[in-house]
Amino acid sequence: MKENLSAQTVLENLKAGNERYMANLASTKPLTVAPPELVEEQKPSAIILGCSDARVPVELIFDQPLGELFVIRVAGNIIAPSQIGSIEFAAEKFGTRLVVVLGHSHCGAVTACVETLINPDQYYSPNLQSIVDRIRPSVYNLHEIMTASDAEVDIDEFVNRAVRANVRMSVSQLKHGSRILEDMVTHGDLTIIGAEYDIATGRVNFLDS
Ligand SMILES: [Zn+2]
Repeated sequence: MKENLSAQTVLENLKAGNERYMANLASTKPLTVAPPELVEEQKPSAIILGCSDARVPVELIFDQPLGELFVIRVAGNIIAPSQIGSIEFAAEKFGTRLVVVLGHSHCGAVTACVETLINPDQYYSPNLQSIVDRIRPSVYNLHEIMTASDAEVDIDEFVNRAVRANVRMSVSQLKHGSRILEDMVTHGDLTIIGAEYDIATGRVNFLDS
């Protein structure tokens, strides 16, 4: 059986994969139907919580083959119980050591949340509103800081900062919103980090925690 790689090794693999992607090199292991060893079981090396945005295909941007990434995608890469449960499942069942919360530039869900600050009468369906509400705390704090310090708030810059604030909030919620994950992090069995994908350049920047 495949061994569990350390979080640091997996992180280096993801960074190298993103470099290959940016360099537009063909993967050495192209996506295909599952090879025989993958039919019976999976052993993903990383868990990625990303946004549903069509421009952020996780396996492609990290140039990873089938079976390497356990991916959860939801608009705004928010943390709700089902996301935490999915991550607990993968971390416990497969022993995967690295979780990456992956936000991205020009995120529609974050922008939708920012728009509710600009226009409080903005209406979203209750279901979409539930996503916006989970993004709101990070954006709201940022809004207070920026309106206190800047005469004029640049919306694009605000959304950029809100994307990173939202990633950091999701990382924090994962670290502290689950007893299982918190224990794994405390014992050094799990690393949870944030990252941001730049749609214009293809680069993934890993954020300092
Ligand atoms: Zn998005």
